[in-house]
Amino acid sequence: MNPEKYIYLDNNATCCVSPEVEEAMVPFFQQFYGNPSSMHSFGGQVFRHIEEARRKVAALLNADPEEIVFTSCGTESDNHAIRGVFQAFPEKRHFITTKVEHPAVLMVADFLEKKGYQVTKIKVDKFGNLDLDEFRDSITSNTGLVSVMAANNETGTLFPIEEIGLICREKGIYFHTDAVQAAGKIPLDVKKIPVDLLSISGHKVHAPKGIGVLYIRRGVKLDPFILGGHQERSRRAGTENVPYIIGLGKACELALAGILEENSRVRELRDKLETGIVKKIPFTRINGNPKWRLPNTCNIGFELIEGESILLHMDKAKIAASSGSACTSGSLEPSHVLLAMDVPFSYVHGSVRFSLSRYNTEEEINYVLQVLPGIIEKLREISPFYTKEYKEKAQNWNLA
Ligand code: PLP
Repeated sequence: MNPEKYIYLDNNATCCVSPEVEEAMVPFFQQFYGNPSSMHSFGGQVFRHIEEARRKVAALLNADPEEIVFTSCGTESDNHAIRGVFQAFPEKRHFITTKVEHPAVLMVADFLEKKGYQVTKIKVDKFGNLDLDEFRDSITSNTGLVSVMAANNETGTLFPIEEIGLICREKGIYFHTDAVQAAGKIPLDVKKIPVDLLSISGHKVHAPKGIGVLYIRRGVKLDPFILGGHQERSRRAGTENVPYIIGLGKACELALAGILEENSRVRELRDKLETGIVKKIPFTRINGNPKWRLPNTCNIGFELIEGESILLHMDKAKIAASSGSACTSGSLEPSHVLLAMDVPFSYVHGSVRFSLSRYNTEEEINYVLQVLPGIIEKLREISPFYTKEYKEKAQNWNLA
């Protein structure tokens, strides 16, 4: 174990840029810097590279390249999908989403509500599974769009997007899925999943921050979000972020090639970490659906202590993880996802998300399993809630 090296288990917040991705981007800063919209061949060659990247992104989703629109990030893709549909269909005034979406969707839902739209946020059960009956019952003739994430960023719980898409299709309602966390980790095939709009973010698939994708199924009508030039077939104005688009193309190509590894080696490491923690450390619980989950994510509640204190102590031991999502972990508010799942109060504040990537090693997981029990014990020792009864029960814990 290299003591200088950070053990990075926060890949749902952001990932490193793959060396191959960085290498693919470099020529597009100094060498191929032409504007892809220019008439001259210096720009034209850049245009062809963009179209090659578009084909690679499309392949990850089994989409047609013309259905891929490059954006600046996952947040923009989510905003574009939702606001674009309601602008294109002003007579539709009802939006359905879930209580556990990322703020990139929930804040748009709140915005629509303030504008007088009706918004339904579907609840989830204690495993984070969606209440499909409530979903079916909430659809009305006024519903313009359904947006349900493919996988939850905090717990990794997967949502039944095929089933939801089918229901939407039967009713003639557009369906958007925020697949920012799912893309590259589980297979996504838009020829099989009846989804109309799908969001991806570059920095969750080992491309840089500041690039995203909105998949728009051919024939789907929605207004552009950013107005200006005719780039991206007039669906997203602004001169293309060429190096980042090239990087995202490479990242998607690598993700597609590595999806088996993600679902075997990464999954095994995640399972080793999770079972190790639950066995070695008393009073822990897994938050989320233990089976139907992203292969890289686990969210563990440690009773009677604060997630932030755990993170600070892990940070000292050079281990990076997070509590809540990266967008809310700056606040001490409990996670809206765990609250929606009714995670017991004594666990909700002490929950930590570990999210792995293909760059993690077994040696790193062994190190975490070696140091984490000591950190938790130390924090519990100073907790006023860690009573004699708890201490007695802990002694009889089934230690591995
Ligand atoms: N949606 C989900 C599920 C996410 O996890 C994130 C980022 O964490 C986003 C959207 C926002 O993506 P971006 O950071 O590219 O704006």
